[in-house]
Amino acid sequence: MNCLICKSGTLREATNTYFANLKYGYVIIENVPCLKCDQCGEVIYSASVMEKIDNMLEQMQKITSRIFIVDYANAA
Ligand SMILES: [Zn+2]
Repeated sequence: MNCLICKSGTLREATNTYFANLKYGYVIIENVPCLKCDQCGEVIYSASVMEKIDNMLEQMQKITSRIFIVDYANAA
């Protein structure tokens, strides 16, 4: 599958660190499965991964800490 951004790179399976700056704090999710372009480094998450991240962010909102660092494999 070719990269949608640079059109010349190839998307390969990889893992990425997802970072979000939300109103209740910062969230870092490590080892999130994604497709990464070997040319420009663009990262694309599948719909099912985005859904799991959304669920995780919702869960974290209920915790009072300001910074969250989780491993995708442990939290998904
Ligand atoms: Zn690219």
